[in-house]
Amino acid sequence: MTISQGRLHERSIRYVKGVGPHRMIQLAQLGIATVEDACYYPPRRYEDRTRLATISELKPGEVAAVRGRVLTTALRRLRRGQTLFEAAVGDATGVLKLVWFHSPYLAEQIKTGDEFVLYGRVEGGSRRQMTHPEMEPVADDDDGSLHMGRIVPIYPLASGLTQRWFRRLIATILEEAGDELEETLPEPLRASRGWPGVTAAVRELHFPTSWDALTAAKQRLAFDELFLLQLALAQRRAKTVNTVKPHRYVLDGPATQGLRQRLPFRLTASQERVLSELLADLSQPYPMYRLLQGDVGCGKTILLIMLMAVAVQSGCQAVLMAPTELLAEQHAGVAAAYLGPLGVSVTLLSQGVPTAERTRAARAIAAGKISIVIGTHALLQRHVTFHRLSLVIIDEQHKFGVAQRARLARKAARPDVLVLTATPIPRTLALSLYGDLAASTIMELPPGRQPIDTLWMHEAQRDDLYNLMRRHLADGRQGYVVYPLVEERATTDRKAATQMAKRLQTEVFPEFRVGLLHGQMKPKQKERIMRAFAEGELQLLVSTVIVEVGLDVPNATIMVIEHPERFGLAQLHQLRGRIGRGSHPATCVVVSDATDETIRQRLNAFVQTIDGFQLAEKDLELRGPGTLLGRYQHGWVRFRIADLSADRPLLEAAREEAQALIGRDPQLGDPSVAALRGQLERLRQQPG
Ligand code: ADP
Ligand code: MG
Repeated sequence: MTISQGRLHERSIRYVKGVGPHRMIQLAQLGIATVEDACYYPPRRYEDRTRLATISELKPGEVAAVRGRVLTTALRRLRRGQTLFEAAVGDATGVLKLVWFHSPYLAEQIKTGDEFVLYGRVEGGSRRQMTHPEMEPVADDDDGSLHMGRIVPIYPLASGLTQRWFRRLIATILEEAGDELEETLPEPLRASRGWPGVTAAVRELHFPTSWDALTAAKQRLAFDELFLLQLALAQRRAKTVNTVKPHRYVLDGPATQGLRQRLPFRLTASQERVLSELLADLSQPYPMYRLLQGDVGCGKTILLIMLMAVAVQSGCQAVLMAPTELLAEQHAGVAAAYLGPLGVSVTLLSQGVPTAERTRAARAIAAGKISIVIGTHALLQRHVTFHRLSLVIIDEQHKFGVAQRARLARKAARPDVLVLTATPIPRTLALSLYGDLAASTIMELPPGRQPIDTLWMHEAQRDDLYNLMRRHLADGRQGYVVYPLVEERATTDRKAATQMAKRLQTEVFPEFRVGLLHGQMKPKQKERIMRAFAEGELQLLVSTVIVEVGLDVPNATIMVIEHPERFGLAQLHQLRGRIGRGSHPATCVVVSDATDETIRQRLNAFVQTIDGFQLAEKDLELRGPGTLLGRYQHGWVRFRIADLSADRPLLEAAREEAQALIGRDPQLGDPSVAALRGQLERLRQQPG
């Protein structure tokens, strides 16, 4: 036995035959440290080599795999030191030409007489050709082996590892340890869907016996991942939600009635619907645990104030935590404007408040003399305690870690918790990240909102751009220039942004005041600049930090985004939400000469779509779930096989099954689900 004893996730890949220290490092780059990692390392694609096409069968335009022997090779030198490597391969039916640019080393790897499987797009008319095909050498004894005569896996590999070597590695592991893979899916669940057992499924994942068998295997393995995550979420939800809360609310009382009368606008249908969802939650004997999402500017704040009014008229306290000083201040200002006249006290608790004042406030809060507390991280400090806190609200919740949110919630006995996000999340992601939360979504913007015109301009149009900006500023409006920093080049980028601000001030807009905001500034300094902009002392704000979440300056009507290719769609949309908040029409301009196709698609989508949810779906499609998940999640979910943009029905199924199972057996105590319980434990023990 070459693979030592122990559970597969604890067995280092190092001890598999053929893996030495060097290979171990190469495998580690692929995220493969253990035998189990290797088992679940999915191929990037598969090649049907049960019957490869002959060269004469190749049709121009199609992507095909073909087997041939090298007839001739030639390395040509082109102008300016560039090279072209050409080869001709043949089989019994014809000749195929192969071309590679800038790859002179291939002359060492591809020799006359060698045999290869080639994979690529077929070009040309009568004389067929492939440019930069993928290729894999064929050995004489290959037929009927791992590499030929079957559906063959092609893996995403780091340089230095060959497909043949890796395939052999996987085959060895499956042979020796495949039977030890742990079955986690309860038999009835598996049987009802006709899915293979885990060992068979993993074998099929790597060496499919047919396309249908592969599909079933992938489904089953993807389900495993989704199911595990949904179980964790369902358990968490069961724990938080199934305990009776100590407080009861008066939903309709003087504060809410007074507030309704004072509203300067009618709530939109969407706001009303979400409000009734929230109130229904509050009226339950169990704590609310809900996510409120809605595009920037859709009017979430007023709903928060409504809920806080409910808490107050019920003799309880409410707390609202925001990620920045300015945002906390703005919330406190709005809350005080609505609730102050009704005799409700609102207190701001943030680093910006002088210590003595903060201490006094903390004392009043602990004594229950203050009902509504709004603040930043400062709220998390140990000396901040409440008298009768029942409602915890967290704005822009993704700016806070899980631990921070939990810490705030622990300041109350089984409080109702509402978390907010203005970053629209496609439903699949929402389910996988917040499957334990109920979600409410505000779908429409308030009426009368000015549309935001979005333009894509090129460098050559800079003069037009400056004229456009000048028109906005001359009308008394304000604007942002967003200049993103790239981490590795932070210093150079900051200089570039600083220079840009200087140039805009001295050469382009001497008649206006231009401010600069960048990440290296002290918080105090940043606050000062943001405030100066908010109060209209600055007309133009050049910023390297993404214009801080929540900054609400209705007079800002123009935003210019430099290097928009450095942002994802969601970020671009988030930025754009900073303008168009007032009664004047707004314009957002991305400046880019990008030629890269995915970037062009992204910018085009941004220019054409103003709906955050549509953009989020598009983002998921363009970037794949990996990056998005990375951004939203807090570490512990890793999908190797499940694909969130394609496996949505599977995700919904996993969620239902998980909820049903947890409903029957919250602790997963039944022996038939012992393996699942074990895996969940492992998931929890992971860092993050
Ligand atoms: P967000 O959801 O991004 O937090 P806000 O709550 O800050 O948005 O609302 C943005 C602006 O829209 C605020 O100035 C608010 O007063 C206004 N607003 C909210 N609801 C309505 C409504 N139903 N009709 C008109 N204006 C509204
Ligand atoms: Mg807001």
